[in-house]
Amino acid sequence: ISPINEHVTLAMRIIPYGEGQRLLIVRDVSEHRRLEVMRRDFVSNASHELRTPLTVLRGYLDMMEPDTRGKGALLEWKAPIGEMRAQATRMESLITDLLKLARLESDSSVARQELIDVPHLLHRIAEDTRRLSPDRHTVEAAIEADIKLLGRDSEFHSLCQNLLQNAIQYSPDGGAVRLRWWGDEDGAHLSVADSGLGIDEADIPRLTERFYRVDVARSRSRGGTGLGLAIVKHALEHHEARLEIISQPGIGSTFICHFPAHRVQRAQPMVVNG
Ligand code: ADP
Repeated sequence: ISPINEHVTLAMRIIPYGEGQRLLIVRDVSEHRRLEVMRRDFVSNASHELRTPLTVLRGYLDMMEPDTRGKGALLEWKAPIGEMRAQATRMESLITDLLKLARLESDSSVARQELIDVPHLLHRIAEDTRRLSPDRHTVEAAIEADIKLLGRDSEFHSLCQNLLQNAIQYSPDGGAVRLRWWGDEDGAHLSVADSGLGIDEADIPRLTERFYRVDVARSRSRGGTGLGLAIVKHALEHHEARLEIISQPGIGSTFICHFPAHRVQRAQPMVVNG
């Protein structure tokens, strides 16, 4: 797809056509592009607009929550106010994820790149995850120390966090989550594996769609927004990476991200003289 100017975008495709010939197909996708940008801007603006009143409501709800020594009518309101605060938190997560996704969709340039210290970042995320769910899950990390990646630190961070959170959310307490980062001749690979619920084969191709959930009630009760894997998908596209999902219901799931070799940088091996 190539934007000719701000109004016209053409989609071009070359396909083989007969003996030694090629066919160039040019399609005007300007209208489609315009609607896509409008949709993106709408989501982004609506999310921003929703955030302000929600922050005000949340502030008052926080003030109203009675402590256990609260008296009279207010104490009777403890449960409803607690529920309203929980719903406000849910809405905040939703708005944060919608904005994150809108930003990822609108900024597809590969220009702003940095060398991500993946091993350092993964150790930090694994440590944070252990701290946040200390006795519920164990997080095992096998991270090759010398492999860095050309990309965007914040996007890589969000994709790892989403995959880890899912592994924890969709596996029973006491389960182990395994995080792995390694390299080979094809590039570098990140995998997050759990021994949780698993996913039916038919659902796998749809998981990265916005708001697609296998079990809506379960996702909501665990604080899921339904946008986590859509964020992962877009962040991976910015890194020219591919997502592979291997899962068996009742056994567990493994999400593997494959990053191409030209984005990978290995530390120079140490030369020892003598
Ligand atoms: P959610 O906020 O609902 O977790 P996601 O986009 O992160 O949204 O995931 C979409 C759906 O994929 C989830 O609702 C869940 O049904 C399924 N899913 C994601 N990760 C896992 C996993 N590790 N194990 C089982 N199911 C998963």
